[in-house]
Amino acid sequence: MKINKICCIGAGYVGGPTMAVIAKMNPNIQVTIVDINQERIDAWNDDDVSKLPVYEPGLPEIVKETRGKNLHFSTEIDKAIDEAEMVFISVNTPTKTYGKGKGMAADLKYVELCARNIADVAKTDKIVVEKSTLPVRTAHAIKSILDNIGGEVKFDILSNPEFLAEGTAIQDLLKPDRVLIGGESKEAIEALASIYGSWVPQDQILRTNVWSSELSKLTANAFLAQRISSINAISELCEHTEANVSEVARAIGMDSRIGPKFLNASIGFGGSCFQKDILNLVYIARSYGLNEVADYWEQVIILNDHQKRRFSDKLITTLYNTVSGKKIAMLGWAFKKDTNDTRESAAIYVADHLLSEQASIAVYDPKVPKAKVYADLNYLNTRLEKENEELVEVFNNPYEAIKDAHAIAIMTEWDEFKSYDWNKIYNLMKKPAFIFDGRRLLDKNSIEKIGFKYFTIGQ
Ligand code: NAD
Repeated sequence: MKINKICCIGAGYVGGPTMAVIAKMNPNIQVTIVDINQERIDAWNDDDVSKLPVYEPGLPEIVKETRGKNLHFSTEIDKAIDEAEMVFISVNTPTKTYGKGKGMAADLKYVELCARNIADVAKTDKIVVEKSTLPVRTAHAIKSILDNIGGEVKFDILSNPEFLAEGTAIQDLLKPDRVLIGGESKEAIEALASIYGSWVPQDQILRTNVWSSELSKLTANAFLAQRISSINAISELCEHTEANVSEVARAIGMDSRIGPKFLNASIGFGGSCFQKDILNLVYIARSYGLNEVADYWEQVIILNDHQKRRFSDKLITTLYNTVSGKKIAMLGWAFKKDTNDTRESAAIYVADHLLSEQASIAVYDPKVPKAKVYADLNYLNTRLEKENEELVEVFNNPYEAIKDAHAIAIMTEWDEFKSYDWNKIYNLMKKPAFIFDGRRLLDKNSIEKIGFKYFTIGQ
C-alpha cells in the first residue's frame, strides 16, 4: 500500500519533531500536523524558526527545509484526516486527575476523541497509528470505536511507540536504536515500515504483535527510570560512606553487562513520561491483581520523590535550618538540558518546598519563559497565585538572579552553567556562599577553592 498523505494529530514534543523528520526523509509524502491548540500551530508556522513551540537542537533547520513543501501545520483537523491514508495519533496521555485510577492510570480521553474524530470524518480506508504512549490493550478500544462509528471504512490499527528523548530528539529520530511497529495486518505494517525504511535499515525495524509493542514502550521507560532511581539510591549511601557516586557509576558501567549509560546521579528524573508511564504500569499490574509486580515498580517513583525531597531538606538544614526570607537562586527550570519542557521537572517540587519554608526564589533558565515558571507552580495549588508572584522572580540574566543570593541550587544540567564566571558569582553572593549542585555539574575542587560551600549529590 503506497502512502501519499500522512496526518498527525497532536503537534507536541513528539508529533512535531517526528513528523518533521518523516517529511525530511520522504519528500514525496505530504505530511500535515494538526492540533486543536491554535497558538501552538501559529508558533509552528512562525517565520522565525527560533520561536517554534518545541525547543530541540537541529529542529529549526529541518522545519525551515520542509515547511510549506511537504510539511504543514494546521488546525483544520477534519480536512487533514479525510485526505490522509495514514493517521498518527500523537496526543497527550497524562495521568488521570479524577475518578477511577486518579493519580495512576493514563487519561485516554484525548486519544478517544481522536478515534471518534477519525471515525466521523473517514470516507476511505485508513491506517491508524498509535504514536502516543498507551496502556497495553488500548488498540482494542480504538478499533472498537472506529469499527462501530466508522461505517463501511476499513481501519487497520498499528502501535508505533516513540523512543526519542527530549533534548536529543532529532539525533534519536535520525539514528534510532530501533523502530517498533506492532500490528495485525502485514500490509499495514509494511506500509509504515517503508516510510521508516527511507532512512532506517530494515533489520532495525522490529515487527511485533500490537500488545507487545504497547507494553514494550511502558517497559522501556520503566527500565530507564529504574536505572536513575538505582544510582540515586546509591548516591545517598555514598554521602554517608565517603564513596563517590561518579566513581561507583564508572566502575559498574564498565561491566558490559551493565553498561555506562543512564548512570548519572541527580536530583531525580522529571519529564512528562517516566513518572506517568510507571504509574500506569503499576496501575495495570494492580488491575490484574499482581501486587508484587506493582510494588516493585512503584518503588522507582518512591525513590525519585525521596531524592527531590532530600535535596531541598539538605539545603534547608545547611542554611542553619531556615530559609525564611533568604534568596535562593535556582539555575535551570527545564526537566533536563536542551529542552524547554518543564513537565514534572524536579525544580518545580524543590521550589515549592522552599517556598513553603518562606524562601524567596530567583529563577534563571535559558529556554523557559517566565509565564511557564508561574504556571508550573500555580498548577500545584499549594498557595495563592499572588503569593507565588510575590515570592518568585524570574530573570533573563543569571548574574542578576544570583545577586545577593544566600544559595544557588543547580536544577538543570545546561552546559552554559559550567562556563559562568564563578569568581564573579562568588563576589555577588551573600556569605557564606552556598552551592547545591543537583546535577553534579561543577568541579568540586575549583569551586571550593574560590570559597564556596559546595554540596553535590552522592559525594
Ligand atoms: P504534548 O502535550 O507536547 O502534545 C500533545 C498535543 O496534542 C498538544 O499540542 C494538544 O493540544 C494536542 N491534542 C490533544 N488532544 C487533541 C485532539 N483531540 N485533537 C487535536 N490535537 C489534540 O505531548 P507529547 O510530549 O508530544 O506526548 C505525546 C505522546 O507521546 C504521549 O502519549 C507521550 O507519552 C508520548 N511520548 C512522549 C515523549 C516525550 O519525550 N515527550 C517521548 C515518547 C513518547
